[in-house]
Amino acid sequence: MTPSRVVAVDGPAAAGKGTLARRLAAELGLPYLDTGLLYRAVGRRVLDRGADPRDADIAAAEARALTAADLDRTDLRGPEADMAASAVAVLPGVRAALLDWQRDFGRRHGAVMDGRDIGTVIFPDAPAKLFVTASPEARARRRWLELQGRGVERPLAEVEAEMRARDAQDASRSTAPMKPAADAVVLDTTDLDAEHAFRVALDLVRRRLGG
Ligand code: C5P
Repeated sequence: MTPSRVVAVDGPAAAGKGTLARRLAAELGLPYLDTGLLYRAVGRRVLDRGADPRDADIAAAEARALTAADLDRTDLRGPEADMAASAVAVLPGVRAALLDWQRDFGRRHGAVMDGRDIGTVIFPDAPAKLFVTASPEARARRRWLELQGRGVERPLAEVEAEMRARDAQDASRSTAPMKPAADAVVLDTTDLDAEHAFRVALDLVRRRLGG
């Protein structure tokens, strides 16, 4: 059963869904979960073992062994972590191991959860679903600026190519591919600043949650 206060915020990388979901959670007084961190942490645990993130048995074992402390690691971002996360996320055994964890989180007190499959698989009955997207060029530029802000100099073209590769892998996998739920509202942030996107989203979510 889906609790009455679950907000699903899905979409591709660097579309603005993390910022938006965090603000929605603060405004609505709901817990926030960045589900991408779960896949990132599993990818990291596999890399720590010196294994290949595409190894289904090892990745599923690491997903089952995941602890809360893994989510606090400081090495969960960056190109290597991005690709390892996307690689383990293809594996049904990994997704199955993380499914109950995510549902338990949402059922406890309601939640705003951001990811790729919250509205389609984790909580298909969620009362409010957003699919936040933007053009690949705009998203690559945002990620590039974010990297620069952290002192990481990378060619924009390289950042865009990696992002397109990850999008393609996330959208084409057979288990829980990234796609908008049939009843999700698609929010294209290509020409919206964060404030405008937040206002539009909050209005929609408030109407859907009935409060
Ligand atoms: O959202 P973020 O970029 O941190 O996610 C990292 C990767 O984890 C994504 O590229 C995707 O492969 C995977 N993911 C997923 N399902 C989710 C959240 C993330 O498959 N709900």
